[in-house]
Amino acid sequence: MDWMNKEFIEKILKDGANPTHDQIEEILEKSYRREKLSHLEIARLLNASEEEQFEKIYEIAGKIKKEIYGRRVVTFAPIYVSDYCVNNCTYCGYRRDNKFSRKKLSIDNVREEALVLESLGHKRLAFESGEDPVNLPIEYFLDCLKAIYESSDIRRINVNIAATTKENYRKLHDAEIGTYILFQETYHEETFNEVHPRSLKGNYQYHLEAFDRAQQAGIDDVGGGVLFGLYDYKFEVMGLILHNDHLEKRYGVGFHTISVPRLKKAEGMDLDDFPYLVNDEEFMHIVAILRLAVPYGGLILSTRETREMRENLIMRGVSQISAGSNTGVGGYKEEKLAKELGHHKEVPQFELSDERTVLEVVEDMIDDDLIPSFCTACYRCGRTGDRFMRLAKSGQIGNVCEPNALMTLMEFLDDYADERLREKGKKFIMNAIEDIKNPDIRKLAKEKVEKIDKEGARDLFL
Ligand code: SAM
Ligand code: SF4
Repeated sequence: MDWMNKEFIEKILKDGANPTHDQIEEILEKSYRREKLSHLEIARLLNASEEEQFEKIYEIAGKIKKEIYGRRVVTFAPIYVSDYCVNNCTYCGYRRDNKFSRKKLSIDNVREEALVLESLGHKRLAFESGEDPVNLPIEYFLDCLKAIYESSDIRRINVNIAATTKENYRKLHDAEIGTYILFQETYHEETFNEVHPRSLKGNYQYHLEAFDRAQQAGIDDVGGGVLFGLYDYKFEVMGLILHNDHLEKRYGVGFHTISVPRLKKAEGMDLDDFPYLVNDEEFMHIVAILRLAVPYGGLILSTRETREMRENLIMRGVSQISAGSNTGVGGYKEEKLAKELGHHKEVPQFELSDERTVLEVVEDMIDDDLIPSFCTACYRCGRTGDRFMRLAKSGQIGNVCEPNALMTLMEFLDDYADERLREKGKKFIMNAIEDIKNPDIRKLAKEKVEKIDKEGARDLFL
C-alpha cells in the first residue's frame, strides 16, 4: 500500500507545473519511442495549458494509438444482473438511500438477457451488479456466469463487481472470467471516504488492495478506473499511474484495461454538488495522456459519452467501447418487449448519452474507417496477463488482432446485418485485408474470412 502516496502526487504535480514547449516536445518524442515516461514527465503533460501543447499531445497520442492498435475498436455490452446495493455511494442511482423496488435476475432471466445480447451480435460482456452479500452472494454471481457461458454464444465475460476476498477471486478465476474490473472511483482518500459514507465500500485500503488479492488468486487481467468528476483529475491520473506501476512491479503486468467513466446525472444526486466535474477538453486531455503513459493498456469508454465525444476519444487513444448498452436490470429483454408493447421507465444507474443500436454503431465505425472488433481470441487461447503484453509490445497486434477483428466483423455481418450493411461491410473488410502488410497474414486472413462467409465457419482466429 505504500505505493499510494498522496504527498508524493501533490509534490510531483507541483514540480511539473508550467512546462515549457521544449519539455513537452521532449516528453512526446520519448513517448513516441515507446520509452516509459517518468512520474515527473506525466505530471508535466498534465500541467500543459497552451493550445499548441494540447495539439501536439493529441497528435502523438493518436499516432501511438494507430500504430499499436491500428483501426480496431473492441466492442462490448454491459449486463446488469441486480440493483440491490447495501452501499450508499453519493453519486450512484443504485445507492441504498434511493427507495425503489430492487431487482435481481433469476438464472432463467440471466439466460434470457444473454440470448438477447447474443441476438444483437455481442460476444463480449461486462458483468455488472450492486453489492449485497445477503441477496447477492458470490455463488449467485458464479451461477449467472455459468448460465451465460452455457446458454449463449457469449465468449468472454469481464466482471465488474465489488471488491471481495482472495477466496472469492479464486472462484471467479475458476469460473473463467475475462478481466476483473474495479474502479477505484477516486485515489484521494478523504474524497473516497466522503463519497462512500458508512458502507462496505467505504474501506479505502481494502478497495485499493483488491487487485493484489485478485492477482494472488490467479486473475492476471485486471482493469482499473477512476470516476472522473469526484476529485481533481490530475491527481486521479497520477493515482492510476502509481497503481499501474505497483502492479507491474509486483506481478509483472499492469492494468489490462483502464476505464474512464465520467460522472453523469443519476437519481437522487445533483451534479452541482460535485465541484470537480471534468469538461470535454479536460477529458480529451486525460485520455490522450493515459495513452501516452500506458501505451499498451486498453482504454475503455462507455455509453456515458455522446457519439461525438466517443469518436473524438477513439482518435486520441480509446480502444474499447460499449455499444447498444442498457444499464437497467433485465433491460435488454424489457427493451425488446417495450418496442412491441409500448414504453417503460425504470431507475437506471446513471443516464446514457449514446442511444445508438449495435448495428448503428458498427455502421458508423465502418463509415469512419474504423474496424469494429468482437474478438475474444486472446482469452480463448490463454493469452492473458503478461502473455498478452508480450504480444502487444512485440508490435504483433497488427498481424494478429487486426485479422481477428476482421474475421469477427465478417461473422457479425453474416449473422446480424441486413443485405445492405452486409455488402458495405464486406467491401470494407476486403479493402482492409489488402492493407495488411505481411503477405502470409494477408493470405491467411482472406482464406479465413471467406471460410466464415462462404462456409459458415465461426470462432476462427489467429
Ligand atoms: N457495484 C460495484 C462497484 O461499485 O464497484 C460494481 C459496478 S457499478 C454497477 C459500476 C460503476 O458505475 C461504479 O464503479 C461507478 O464508477 C459507476 N457509476 C456509478 N454512478 C455513476 C454515475 N452517476 N455516473 C457515472 N458512473 C457511475
Ligand atoms: Fe452500489 Fe456500485 Fe452504485 Fe456504489 S457504485 S451504490 S457500490 S452499485
